[in-house]
Amino acid sequence: MLSHVYRFLKHNNIIHLKLFIILLMSCIPDGIDLSSNRLLATSPIPSYFNSSTILPSLKTLRLDGYFSFENNQHAANDFGSTHHFLPTAVLHPKSVADISSTVKHIFEMGSGSELTVAARGHGHSLQGQAQAHRGVVINMESLLEQEIQVCSGEHPYVDVSGGELWINILHETLRYGLAPKSWTDYLYLTVGGTLSNAGISGQAFKHGPQISNVYQLEVVTGKGEVVTCSENQNADLFYAVLGGLGQFGIITRARISLEPAPKMVKWVRVLYSDFPSFSKDQEHLISSQDSFDYIEGFVIINRTGLLNTWRSSFDPKDPIRAGQFSSEGRTLYCLEMAIHFSPNDKDIMNQVSISNK
Ligand SMILES: Cc1cc2nc3c(=O)[nH]c(=O)nc-3n(C[C@H](O)[C@H](O)[C@H](O)COP(=O)(O)OP(=O)(O)OC[C@H]3O[C@@H](n4cnc5c(N)ncnc54)[C@H](O)[C@@H]3O)c2cc1C
Repeated sequence: MLSHVYRFLKHNNIIHLKLFIILLMSCIPDGIDLSSNRLLATSPIPSYFNSSTILPSLKTLRLDGYFSFENNQHAANDFGSTHHFLPTAVLHPKSVADISSTVKHIFEMGSGSELTVAARGHGHSLQGQAQAHRGVVINMESLLEQEIQVCSGEHPYVDVSGGELWINILHETLRYGLAPKSWTDYLYLTVGGTLSNAGISGQAFKHGPQISNVYQLEVVTGKGEVVTCSENQNADLFYAVLGGLGQFGIITRARISLEPAPKMVKWVRVLYSDFPSFSKDQEHLISSQDSFDYIEGFVIINRTGLLNTWRSSFDPKDPIRAGQFSSEGRTLYCLEMAIHFSPNDKDIMNQVSISNK
C-alpha cells in the first residue's frame, strides 16, 4: 500500500513538496534545531551507556576500516560553520559491512543508549545536518570499496559508492562519452549528500532533480540491514531515502541514469534589472519544448565589479559594452542558459540560441 502512495505522491510532484520542506527547514531560526542526528545538549547519556562503556563496545567490532576516537573536530564542522557537535567516534569504513555492523551494533544497544549516527559526505551542508552530537559520524568518503562502473547501452547508467564525489563521476563517465542527466552547480559534493537533499541545477526543469534520475540504491537501514531498493523493489525505502535528509538509511551505492554527453555547448547569460521581466522570461523558457538544455536563474545582490569576474563569459569582440556595465550595488537578475549541439551545427548555433529566446 505504502509503495502505491509513494508512487502516487511522486507522480504528483512530491519533489516539489520535498524542496519546499528543505527550504522551510533552512529558514528555521537557530534556536530551534530539528536535526534528529543529534541529541539535545541537555539530554544526559544514561550512566549505563556513557563514553567509558561505548568506546570499549565500539572497539570490539571487527572492521575492514577503523574508528577514530580523538582529533575528530573536522566532523564537528560543516559548510555553514555555525553548528559544532563533537562526535564520540568517527567511522572510516572500508566496506559496506563496516557500516552495517556498526549501525547494527548501535541498534542492538537499544534506545537506552541514545547514541546517534550521521553519515557525512563532503560536509557541505549547514546547521549540523551531517553531525552527531556525542554519536558516531560515518565518513562516507573513505568507502571506496567499489570503483565507478559505467554501463553503456540503450539505457546507460553508472554504479557508484555513496561517498563518491560527482566530479569524479563526471570524469569517469566522459571517458565513455556519457554523463549524468541532472547536476548540482558545484561538483565537489558526494552522491549520498546530494541524493539526501534533492540535487538541483539548470537541468532540473528538463530531467527533474538528481533524485529523479536514480535507478537503484543500496541502503544500510537503521537496523544495520543492507537492502537494495528501487521503484520496483522495496519502493518505500527507495522514496524515503531519496530526499530523506539522511534520516531513513545510509546510501552505500547508487545506480544513476546517464545520457550521451554533449560534444559542444553554447552558453549564454542575460542580465535583468527588473524581476517581472526576468521571471516571465524564465517561466517562458522552462515551459517551452525544445528550448535550452540548461536554464538557471540567479539573484545577484550587491555585487559591484560583476563583469570582472565574468570577463571570460563575454565575446572578446564586445569589450566596450561589457566595460560600460556597472551594477553599482543594485540587485540584478541573471538567466544562465546553455544549449547542446553537434560540431556540425557550429555555424548556425548563434541563430538557434537567439530564436529559442
Ligand atoms: C558551494 C556549494 C554549492 C552548492 N550547490 C548546490 C547546487 O547547485 N544544487 C544543490 O542542489 N545543492 C547545492 N549545494 C547544497 C548541497 O547539495 C548539499 O548541502 C549536500 O547535502 C552537500 O553534499 P555533501 O556530500 O557535502 O553532504 P553532507 O553535508 O556531508 O551531508 C548532507 C546530508 O546528507 C546526509 N548524507 C550524507 N551522505 C549520506 C549517505 N551516503 N547516505 C545517507 N545520507 C547521507 C548527511 O547525514 C546530511 O544529513 C551546494 C552547497 C555548497 C556548499
